[in-house]
Amino acid sequence: MSRHVTASRTAVFDRLESEVRVYCREFPAVFARAQGAQLFDEEGRRFLDLLGGAGVMNYGHNPPGVVAAVSAYLADGGIVHALDLHTVAKRRFLEAFERCILAPRQLYYKIQFTGPTGANAIEAALKIARRTTGRTSAIAFTNGYHGVSLGALAATGSSAKRRAAGIGFAGIDRMPFDGYFGAGTDTAAYLAQMLADPGSGIDPPAAILLEVVQGEGGINTASDQWLRSIADIARAHGALLIIDDIQAGCGRTGTFFSFERSGIRPDIVCLSKAIGGMGLPMSLVLMAPEHDCWRPGEHNGTFRGHNLAFVAATAAIDLYWSDDRLERQIAARSIQLDDRLRAMPNHGGPDGFVLRGRGMIRGLAWRDQGIAAQVSAAAYALGLIVETCGPKGEVLKLLPPLTITAAEIDEAADLLGEAIAAVIPVHIDTLQTA
Ligand code: PMP
Repeated sequence: MSRHVTASRTAVFDRLESEVRVYCREFPAVFARAQGAQLFDEEGRRFLDLLGGAGVMNYGHNPPGVVAAVSAYLADGGIVHALDLHTVAKRRFLEAFERCILAPRQLYYKIQFTGPTGANAIEAALKIARRTTGRTSAIAFTNGYHGVSLGALAATGSSAKRRAAGIGFAGIDRMPFDGYFGAGTDTAAYLAQMLADPGSGIDPPAAILLEVVQGEGGINTASDQWLRSIADIARAHGALLIIDDIQAGCGRTGTFFSFERSGIRPDIVCLSKAIGGMGLPMSLVLMAPEHDCWRPGEHNGTFRGHNLAFVAATAAIDLYWSDDRLERQIAARSIQLDDRLRAMPNHGGPDGFVLRGRGMIRGLAWRDQGIAAQVSAAAYALGLIVETCGPKGEVLKLLPPLTITAAEIDEAADLLGEAIAAVIPVHIDTLQTA
């Protein structure tokens, strides 16, 4: 394919689409089809997809059972848009979510359908916390990412994203996330001290908002003990604990909710991205019933709960969460992925990568900030799509579909190893001792 032809395929994007676009700059193919962990561009070139729609494609692209349910619903004249009217599709979703997700975990939340973005769920959650506590400020953490609308952006750490707002922020106090100062500093104890001290300058918070695994911020992972301490601190200070499970939820860490194994019971949980089953937009706020402070229409939106997304989400929940088969498969595949990553010659050592994350949300963090981007580019050239994250783009982020096959994990690990070796040539002596 000549340069000229490739350029003409993307010319309209360059000419008409805003400069705000980002992923397509790193991965400039024009994609046409997708199945499972595979993407195909319009010329039929195959890629393995570890970008995973930034946490949307947990069940892979076009999971056949979900596609079949959506196609049948459309063919049958099912209602597609209904504001927040009662529909059969919404009833089925609520029933499936209660049956397969909430009841088995003994979580008794009320469900709010917000506008379809993750950011809108965060906006709603923060409003709820402020309304129910009568307080204005909330705690958010270093390197947290919660979206780019103003309320959510106030809670987001990234200076580049914050700068783009062109306005100052109010209502958030920033605290260090677990491990921010290294393993030796207990940042939960630091937070406890700041909140207990009337001289600290930190107002009693309406909420403590956090991601259990920080997806955009560098795959920083909160320990179970840290989460339990934060939950205790929230309770002791009358603040609502809000878990942003928008990227790390829906099975990504190995359990449906990322916080399950810590045993904490958040007051509010935000879900989005993968809840829509096959990439259809939907966002939820789950809240303890006593926090359902809304009067009708107070957090409105035209697309609050889209019926096609209900149909897809219901099919995905029925297919993947009515028993523990997917959870067992995630466990097996994450061990396989972990083994392959640990066995790479570039793992560990002063110039090597540190492995972060858990389950199917993994990060490879290099001290040298430029490496992750170079590895991402080298991987793309080999047919593997994998993005970077972290405050300086220093972490390579792996989000394979939870349904990825063992053979695809091996293929992805082989390609990743090849890409890393292309960027950091492996010394012969390292190979011989590996
Ligand atoms: N919270 C987290 C943890 C996220 O990863 C994201 C998106 N990357 C958001 C919130 C915002 O979601 P959206 O982009 O749909 O507004």
